[in-house]
Amino acid sequence: MRFLETLKNIKVYEAGKPIELVVREFGIEPKDIIKLASNENPYGTSPRVVEAIKKDAHKAYLYPDDSMYELKSALARKYGVDGEMIIIGAGSDQVLEFCARAVLDSSSKVLMSKITFAMYAIYATQQGAQIIRSSCYRHDLDEFYELYKEHNPHIIHICTPNNPTGDAIDADAIFRFLQKVTEPLVIIDGAYMEYAAFKDSSKSVDPKELVERFSNVIYLGTFSKAYGLGGMRVGYGIASKEIIHQLLKLRPPFNITTLSLTAAVAALQDEEFVQDSVQKNFTQMDRFINFALQNGLEFIDSYTNFITYMLDNTLNSKTLSDVLLKRGIIVRDLSSYNLNALRITIGTAEQNSRFFEIFKEVLDEYKR
Ligand SMILES: *Cc1c(COP(=O)(O)O)cnc(C)c1O
Repeated sequence: MRFLETLKNIKVYEAGKPIELVVREFGIEPKDIIKLASNENPYGTSPRVVEAIKKDAHKAYLYPDDSMYELKSALARKYGVDGEMIIIGAGSDQVLEFCARAVLDSSSKVLMSKITFAMYAIYATQQGAQIIRSSCYRHDLDEFYELYKEHNPHIIHICTPNNPTGDAIDADAIFRFLQKVTEPLVIIDGAYMEYAAFKDSSKSVDPKELVERFSNVIYLGTFSKAYGLGGMRVGYGIASKEIIHQLLKLRPPFNITTLSLTAAVAALQDEEFVQDSVQKNFTQMDRFINFALQNGLEFIDSYTNFITYMLDNTLNSKTLSDVLLKRGIIVRDLSSYNLNALRITIGTAEQNSRFFEIFKEVLDEYKR
């Protein structure tokens, strides 16, 4: 049977390993497993959101409100934009997919950083587009501009803060870049923006200002990280009405569940939970920095809820993550990004203490 040629160039995406897999493969009790692999909020889901989901559980038989009026209105209020400038996706991942399908074909090029969120390349390749990457993992927007002039891409991806490296770009630099780049669709992925905004307001990109000043830009946000709803699959895009109008043509009906809508609306009513999580995150982040300094590990200054430890050639990220996995600790090996590095989600104080203890033992054994 026939499959598309483009599929030959796509590898199946490997998500962070779930707790269930470690239970199955190593017979470890779920309570003894620490998952620091997918940048979920380690403080869980806001109790107010859990209540709202319970209260609406009996509505599971109903299709959701396909206009998503309530959620769009809540987001519109939060960001000070018009509801018609918002599209909701099953995770911001789905909005990325709509963007790729709306813009790219096999004649297209897509510009992105050397090391950035893996789904950008996957959606582009699905459309048969060619990937152009910068030479450095940091978003060097001067280099981006040179590559833009040379290649004329149809989409430019800017991930700030960037996953899987954790570094962020100054909002001013982004606005200066956008003034020069008016043709392609520029996607600003702010999956970790709540964290960056807390740590350093100069990295905080305001979606309203973005979309009011630039008609070729879409800002992506998600409920999966700071908002603690990774399991509910809700993300959004904010852009000019024209962009949103085009993307809506690609949206399947009922792409978010009834209870996901309930959860997202309730999450927006508990910003305190989010701010509290973000604050605790950076208190714990300091411990990861100290651990790195004490153990001679290089790390990238992070504006997110994860830290990336760059390993030297005496250590191997794949081996280390496998050894940790057998001991019930799930971290993200970045060898699939051609990086000898581990990306570790900042957990709760207790999870982190366990992590440091076990990781130290693993490092000591490894060095012997
Ligand atoms: C987690 C993440 C997303 C999207 O997550 P969804 O769960 O699909 O909303 C998008 N971009 C980056 C960089 C991420 O890390």
